[in-house]
Amino acid sequence: HGKRGSSDIVVYAGENMAHPTQWLVVQAELRHALTRDELVLHYQPKVDLRSGEIVAVEALVRWQHPQRGLLPPSEFLPAVEQSGLIEPLTAWVLRRALADQAMWTATGRSWAVSVNVSARNLEKPGFTDFVSGLLAEHGTAPHRLLLEVTETALAADARCAAQAVIDLTARGIGISVDDFGTGYTSMSQLRGLPIAEVKIDRTFVRDVLDAPPSQAIVRAVIALAHGLGSRVTAEGVESPEVAGWLAQAGCDEAQGYLYSRPVPWREVGTYEITGAAQ
Ligand code: C2E
Ligand code: CA
Ligand code: CA
Ligand code: CA
Repeated sequence: HGKRGSSDIVVYAGENMAHPTQWLVVQAELRHALTRDELVLHYQPKVDLRSGEIVAVEALVRWQHPQRGLLPPSEFLPAVEQSGLIEPLTAWVLRRALADQAMWTATGRSWAVSVNVSARNLEKPGFTDFVSGLLAEHGTAPHRLLLEVTETALAADARCAAQAVIDLTARGIGISVDDFGTGYTSMSQLRGLPIAEVKIDRTFVRDVLDAPPSQAIVRAVIALAHGLGSRVTAEGVESPEVAGWLAQAGCDEAQGYLYSRPVPWREVGTYEITGAAQ
């Protein structure tokens, strides 16, 4: 390779996405994707383990790429985070999710909606006002929106993020700690924060039937969350046996392929829920 300037935009076929030049191409395409409505949201239900009913749905973004087809977030979120596009992306996701929620509400469903937000969003001054403004625009009660934040976003040095959590909660918007158990949150950081929901990471849930260490962790997280006044949701539930074990252990809600893969909202709940524990 010869020397390249940072403004050269060249696609090298076969080179992987980590290549800086390839990233520039993806970033340019993403800017267009946001303005041309190439992004789509799929929704995955959160099921109450006692009643078996859908209580909420989580919005998961996909990119309907004109050449490459429907791309999962792992294919483009890293480029989004690196390029300052996370702000317009989150804004797009929130608008779309609240608009979709207004439609399912009009058809008689009371599901709350969960939206994933990044640490960068929380650190940005004015984020709370922005979200409150969107809720007002859509006529949505704040408690019907939950923002899912990964543990690392709440790490000790992210004081702005912690303040945002406090401000959002004060407005009635729920905060969920995603992928719990995989990050670096200490108990003392959680203590000071009003958390509506803790989500137990799929890596602990998937082998809970045969791995005593995972059982111990899941039980401890349930006790911790309940002790802090939070609900607990298990992610990655793929079998009725795991759902049954979680219900026995006192877990509140579950999500996973057992109930449904993420689907367009009109397809949520058109199947019968078979995995709910009695
Ligand atoms: P996450 O928030 O932990 O979402 C759960 C992921 O696990 C989703 O992958 C979902 O499709 C998948 N999943 C759900 N149930 C099961 C199961 O039973 N088994 C298995 N093996 N997987 C299951 P997805 O949609 O590819 O999303 C990946 C990650 O991308 C999400 O992880 C989230 O961190 C991020 N993400 C998705 N949408 C957004 C968004 O709108 N904004 C931001 N900032 N991040 C997003
Ligand atoms: Ca999530
Ligand atoms: Ca998660
Ligand atoms: Ca995850």
